[in-house]
Amino acid sequence: MSSLDARLGVLRGTAPPIPHSARTLAALTANPTCDRRSLIDAAGIDKAALAAHLNLPQPLRKSQLALDYGLAFEHKVTAQAGAPLVPLLRQALALTLPEASYQDVNSVGSDDDKSSLQLRHAHTRSRILSAAHRRPSQHRTLLDHPVLHLTVAGHQAYLEPDIIAFHRDGVFHVVEIKSFPVIHGQSDPLKVDAALTQAAAYVLALRELLADDGLPPERVSDTVILVNPRNFTQHPTATPYKAYQQIKSLSRHLGRLRRLPELLDKLPPHTTLDLAPGPDGKPTRPRGELAAALATVPARYTPGCRHHCDLAFHCRTEARNQRRTAALGTKVRDDLAGIDTIDTALALTDGQLHPARDQKDITQALQQAQRIYAELQTGIA
Ligand code: SF4
Repeated sequence: MSSLDARLGVLRGTAPPIPHSARTLAALTANPTCDRRSLIDAAGIDKAALAAHLNLPQPLRKSQLALDYGLAFEHKVTAQAGAPLVPLLRQALALTLPEASYQDVNSVGSDDDKSSLQLRHAHTRSRILSAAHRRPSQHRTLLDHPVLHLTVAGHQAYLEPDIIAFHRDGVFHVVEIKSFPVIHGQSDPLKVDAALTQAAAYVLALRELLADDGLPPERVSDTVILVNPRNFTQHPTATPYKAYQQIKSLSRHLGRLRRLPELLDKLPPHTTLDLAPGPDGKPTRPRGELAAALATVPARYTPGCRHHCDLAFHCRTEARNQRRTAALGTKVRDDLAGIDTIDTALALTDGQLHPARDQKDITQALQQAQRIYAELQTGIA
């Protein structure tokens, strides 16, 4: 075990680590400057268990009905060896193949059991490399339920894209099946961005696999295909999207995770978020002690955290208690860049604090806003 693993293990405590997934990686990019989230996820700490022990309300999750609907749509699209998908991809990727072969890696060597991740990864790897080197009789076009590896903070995370499609020129595309609709050619941009960020993890993992075999990153396209229900039906439609920005952003964030030893160095010695489960498995750690340990790991709360992090309500209370500008929203935080607390902003506005050179413009803007507010108040009176 590396010393980094050992240090992350101390932070995690006795619980087994939770592995990364494309979803958790995508969530990391939603708040890339939060050291707390970076360390907790790198250590594989169960955020939901921390939140439950701290008595926090859970963030909104998809209902079972929505999950079932998504699963049914995915089955419909990949039924009959991907038959409904092939014409869509031919159109979206301008494929000219008269026939498309299909392989489901979900169950390797057995018809009914789901094979282990390791076995499915080994099969995925060999099929992709065979195709990449264009060995005869290996013109597979669709690989369903492949399993890839991505190095995250020095660890191998297993990822499971919906589909990898590739054509004769040897360029691979990631295909994601999503249950949110395309209505008259338009999708919810936030959902598209989240789906592309998730797909970016698959693109990077695929590039890593090819790079290990000496193949260039351009062999994996940054065009990702999203397959969604069309209008208010269950009929699928495929749309190509450029995921370049999402790939760049995720890549930058993964690079940042290499700074984990630095982040760990800033914590007091022996800091742990262990829940100290008793013989019945229930946490015995006093809540105040856990909250104090969390407070030693710096956070960067924004209201968007409520959509992707179990600790959002804890961090929001903390940010409000510390009167952080970020608690008022990312717009306010960005407009007041360099002024971290509401008290500093007020002191600069009232002239009780002299602005530093880089705070002069924003101080003038705050004072102007205060004048307008005072005039409006006078007008109302
Ligand atoms: S909720 Fe807290 S830990 Fe999670 S990303 Fe936001 S600030 Fe970081």
